Amino acid sequence: MGVAENLNRVRTRIATAARKVGGDPAGVHIVAVTKGVAAPYIAEAMAAGQQDFGESRVQEALAKVGCFPGVTWHLVGHLQTNKARQAVLCFALIHSLDRLTLARELDRRACGAGRVVEALVQVNVTGEPGKWGVAPADLPRLLTDLSSLEHLRVRGLMTIGPLVGDPRPAFAGLRELLERAKAKGFASTELKWLSMGMSDDYPVAVEEGSNLVRLGRTIFGRLGEEERACAEDGSIDS
Ligand SMILES: *Cc1c(COP(=O)(O)O)cnc(C)c1O
Repeated sequence: MGVAENLNRVRTRIATAARKVGGDPAGVHIVAVTKGVAAPYIAEAMAAGQQDFGESRVQEALAKVGCFPGVTWHLVGHLQTNKARQAVLCFALIHSLDRLTLARELDRRACGAGRVVEALVQVNVTGEPGKWGVAPADLPRLLTDLSSLEHLRVRGLMTIGPLVGDPRPAFAGLRELLERAKAKGFASTELKWLSMGMSDDYPVAVEEGSNLVRLGRTIFGRLGEEERACAEDGSIDS
């Protein structure tokens, strides 16, 4: 199956999940995650109507962003503070803001570039060790601190589901955190996005209110595998 068929299948599954809970399928946006994905497949996704693309590393993104003007790039992976300047220039939305020091640097760099940087706060809802993201208990304080930065705008929350087990409680937990933040009036009109759901768990995430799913393997993965298999037995002519 090609990229276009994969995208169609994903859109159908999203629509089914959204309707199941009385939601609007059109409100759920897909970020096609292109880490390790070659340019022709990105072009195929664009041809199939895909607008939003995501990378997990600044370095890999730099090579691609310039090649595909007119699409919207998201940073979904962890961001080192020393890459803040490049991140501000490359990405429309940074999903992985998880600490004040990084926020201050993004704000400073955005100011220097004469723009406002938009970001989601990454939350480690499950509390798994070794996982990035602010602890749920520390979220209100971080949101308060972030609200004073003039060149950074928080647009929502992001989480990564648990590695094992039922992802539903984590997704429901993030939705609750967003609702609580809105109720407290943290720039409520700007808290729009709930970024949750990856290839293995996005239907559940959509049922729990996700409106931004980050999908790599289910759109591009099999193609990558086929290509590797071909390269190994030497059957790719170029
Ligand atoms: C790689 C990645 C994704 C996409 O993962 P798949 O399982 O390939 O869909 C989503 N979010 C983040 C943060 C990632 O690093």
